[in-house]
Amino acid sequence: MDLKTPIKDAGLTFRMHARQLEKLGITTVEDFLLYCPYRYEDLSVISKIGDTQPGEKVTIQGKVFDTKAIFTKRHFNLQKVIVFDETGEIECTWFNQKYILTQIKKGNFVSVSGKVDSVGRTKTLLVTDYEILQNENDISFHTGRLVPVYSETRGLSSKWIRNRMRDLLEKHAKTINEYLPEKLLAENHLIKLSDAISRIHFPVSLEESESARERLSFDELFLTQLGSKIRKKDWETKKIGFPFEIEKFQADIQKFWENLPFELTGAQMRSIHEILADLNSKTPMNRMLQGDVGSGKTVVAAVALYISYLNSFQSVFMAPTEILANQHFETLERLLKPLGIKIALFTGKKKLNIADFDIAVGTHALLQKTVEFKNLGLVIVDEQQRFGVEQRAILREKSKNPHFLTMTATPIPRTVFLTLYGDLQLSFLDEMPHGRKIVKTWLVPEEKRTGGYEWIEKHIKEEKTQAFIVCPFIEESENMTTVKAAAKEFEYLSKEIFPHLKLGLLHGKMKSKEKDEVLEQFRQGKTDILVATPVVEVGIDIPNATIMLIEAADRFGLAQLHQLRGRVGRSEEQSYCLLFTESKNPKTTERLKYLERSHVGAELAELDLKLRGPGDMFGTLQHGKDGLKIASLSNFPLIEKTRLAAEKTFENIESYPLLRKKVESNIIHKVTPD
Ligand code: ADP
Ligand code: MG
Repeated sequence: MDLKTPIKDAGLTFRMHARQLEKLGITTVEDFLLYCPYRYEDLSVISKIGDTQPGEKVTIQGKVFDTKAIFTKRHFNLQKVIVFDETGEIECTWFNQKYILTQIKKGNFVSVSGKVDSVGRTKTLLVTDYEILQNENDISFHTGRLVPVYSETRGLSSKWIRNRMRDLLEKHAKTINEYLPEKLLAENHLIKLSDAISRIHFPVSLEESESARERLSFDELFLTQLGSKIRKKDWETKKIGFPFEIEKFQADIQKFWENLPFELTGAQMRSIHEILADLNSKTPMNRMLQGDVGSGKTVVAAVALYISYLNSFQSVFMAPTEILANQHFETLERLLKPLGIKIALFTGKKKLNIADFDIAVGTHALLQKTVEFKNLGLVIVDEQQRFGVEQRAILREKSKNPHFLTMTATPIPRTVFLTLYGDLQLSFLDEMPHGRKIVKTWLVPEEKRTGGYEWIEKHIKEEKTQAFIVCPFIEESENMTTVKAAAKEFEYLSKEIFPHLKLGLLHGKMKSKEKDEVLEQFRQGKTDILVATPVVEVGIDIPNATIMLIEAADRFGLAQLHQLRGRVGRSEEQSYCLLFTESKNPKTTERLKYLERSHVGAELAELDLKLRGPGDMFGTLQHGKDGLKIASLSNFPLIEKTRLAAEKTFENIESYPLLRKKVESNIIHKVTPD
């Protein structure tokens, strides 16, 4: 067994809990050992029994003098264990936990934590944690120390994790190999890896846990960045692709964009030039095109696809879902079909012969073994930030080294991009197409709430427009609390505020048929205002709605607010976003006021990161496959420190074979559907 051993092979109990472990993102022994506690319960003060005071939370240790089960008149059953030390005795009480008395026996040496209570003159300890020790010198794990507390999942308690962690560490802590060079450890004042892993779980002091966390955070950021450097170098030196002819086709490209019904923005032009330069080189392109929804990424992609076609290469355009694939297919047909380019929509259901087409648009179905390409030169991937190394390899098997372009509308701050995607080049559409009006945004203080409502009503009536009202963000996932709050808000607004308008309610707990109906009513203009919970934001496209009101805006990240705001501003009409907040905290209002000025997602995400840390904004990036488990993406000093360390180490990476191996094994190998 080593660190890469699947966790289900680490013992029967692991096998029995494999499903729950996977829920926590744990599939290997290493994942498990690096599953860090999110806090520690300080049970480190061990009191003499004679010194305990009612009301105190304490840990006591001593010998069991007697045990008994008691049934109360009200059908409770209590388990009582009398423990003594040289200063006195105390009764320890459990409620309804019969198995306790099968575990604790007279004469055992126990360590027990809980709250001291007194009934008359007898002191009793209401037990929260306990363990049986060999003797007073035995190490305790659940009591009498800083006790690690882990994020739990149903069927997997902190105590279970703690016990397994202790077992695995006992077996493996010594065999964890140090892969960082001695010099690097010294320069950065880092403790050894095996110590860090032991101490993050069972520290003797908070300082010790802190130094462990520092070491593990360092590794995470360092290995990620070193990994990108190695991949980038490999890509540049080992991958020989096909340089596309650009010069020869200047006139065609010119004609293509002259025929567009609009003028390209400066940012689109710049990105196209960056992409063309890549396509023209022997090293295959490896680039990300980032831009807010509506910034016009598709037409940039279309130019690349056109060039590929002119060079007699086939291209692939991959989207995460069939709906999106369909949408892209239609757009590309509109742009490229008139030029004689044959485009296929490949969904895996229809059997198509890809060889008959110039461009194949589709989902992951395009990666199937049975799909064969003819001269594949360019791959474009929409909205999958980390298109797996494995997936690239599959496509490479199907051709040689095609050019790669990834596109995303997720606002990724620059620092995060450099940390997580250091091996990619970046083109950035930081400019919206001409003629599109920016959404006028106002932060509305509580005292102007009534005025705000009046303005909305007037505007809806005069301009025949519609509005969204987004309810406060209460909890991460849509649950009954959220739904109730939304329903209440809907009632209140319908009766008290907008009795002369028609309102609709949309929340995530509705059946999809109901949702469709509500949306359809709104789309057809039968309702004037749609009251919605924040989770239903995505995918709604109703151009006639030009007002977005967001309640309790202070609870959202700026990037999130920006995404919500993106639901309006989808027509020629001027759109408005009203941010309501009850907060009087100047820091909060200052933060929200950025939205009045900035209309670039990545910029707002960067601010979020500085002002609030990475937690709440891009949930997916932080928790997803790309995300970091221990380090924080807003720990700028550590990012800088590890970047420098990665740069320096990279120069003589060949002298550190263990480290190189570690970096290579770190690359996530995703399984692709077949
Ligand atoms: P996204 O970046 O979200 O993929 P799209 O490529 O779908 O954006 O473009 C959004 C809309 O803007 C499309 O209807 C497209 O035709 C239009 N568009 C793209 N570029 C421009 C431009 N320079 N001027 C005007 N409209 C544009
Ligand atoms: Mg798009």
